[in-house]
Amino acid sequence: MRKIIKLMAVVSMTLIVLAGCGSGNNETTKDSASKSSKANTEATGEGDKILAVTSFTLLEDIVKEIGKDRVDVHNLVPTGTDPHEYEPLPEDIKAATDADVLFYNGLNLEGGENGWFAKMMESVGQDWDNAFELTKGVEPMYVTSGSGDKKAEEINPHAFLDPIVGIQMTENVRDALVEIDPANKKHYKENAEKYLDQLREIDEQYKTKINEIPEEDRVFITSEQAYQYMTKRYGLKEGFIWAIDTEENGSPEQITSLLKFIEKHDPPVLFVETNVDPRPMETVSKESGVEIYGELYSDEIGKPGEEGDTYVKYLQYNMDKIYEGLTSKK
Ligand SMILES: [Zn+2]
Repeated sequence: MRKIIKLMAVVSMTLIVLAGCGSGNNETTKDSASKSSKANTEATGEGDKILAVTSFTLLEDIVKEIGKDRVDVHNLVPTGTDPHEYEPLPEDIKAATDADVLFYNGLNLEGGENGWFAKMMESVGQDWDNAFELTKGVEPMYVTSGSGDKKAEEINPHAFLDPIVGIQMTENVRDALVEIDPANKKHYKENAEKYLDQLREIDEQYKTKINEIPEEDRVFITSEQAYQYMTKRYGLKEGFIWAIDTEENGSPEQITSLLKFIEKHDPPVLFVETNVDPRPMETVSKESGVEIYGELYSDEIGKPGEEGDTYVKYLQYNMDKIYEGLTSKK
């Protein structure tokens, strides 16, 4: 019965999605159909691969590192798309229905209880026991979004920019895979150990490098207040235009407020994230006379082949850029 309900949900979701799109969708549908038959074949017999679904690119990378050849990963939000708000495609719905395990960031990155991920879980009839929140155990931090009487405290979802949180998330992936597929416990534990060593090394570098920046220059400016966990951890003073991507981005009031911060704290340079509209920061640069040093990664890892196309490289890239930028004015 459960299966039938699940299937009905998929069919109706697919119909809704198809109804909302123009032509040119046939290909996607065919593609997802062939993908699903492949997944079904793999899901029978002994020693089969686990089918995992991840909510965005960063988690896809970590799960692949720990699962390696034991796990097939279908990722939902691709690079270049906002993980705060997402409309699952027909192939996403199919994969989410068939998935043995699903990974999401949590801390409201995917919109929380009423967000797109929770809605998708419900529409495909997935069991929440198969879904793992990878920031479990992470102490949430809060941002103040909005202005005037619309001001509100919101959880900051961007914990993953802090390598120590990356360690926690990796341990959560490892434990989840061991729980779902205990026969391959050793495989997951060994992969995780190697990967955790890399993250510990990155943490050491963050500490060392940031300590080398003269104290008065440890002022770090980006568009969104995404780096709160990282800046608190390593002792950078954080300035930003808006608190969170889902609110108004770059209003005159937000820009004025950052300009005041800049006047007070005198940052060597400004940064802008790869996934945001750079124009508000360009305005800040023009008004303040402080240059934009370069781009940083925030809500996504790079496309394959780009710098920062893995989570480890993403952390490394950000570290190098921040260090270079904040020491460039000597
Ligand atoms: Zn964001």
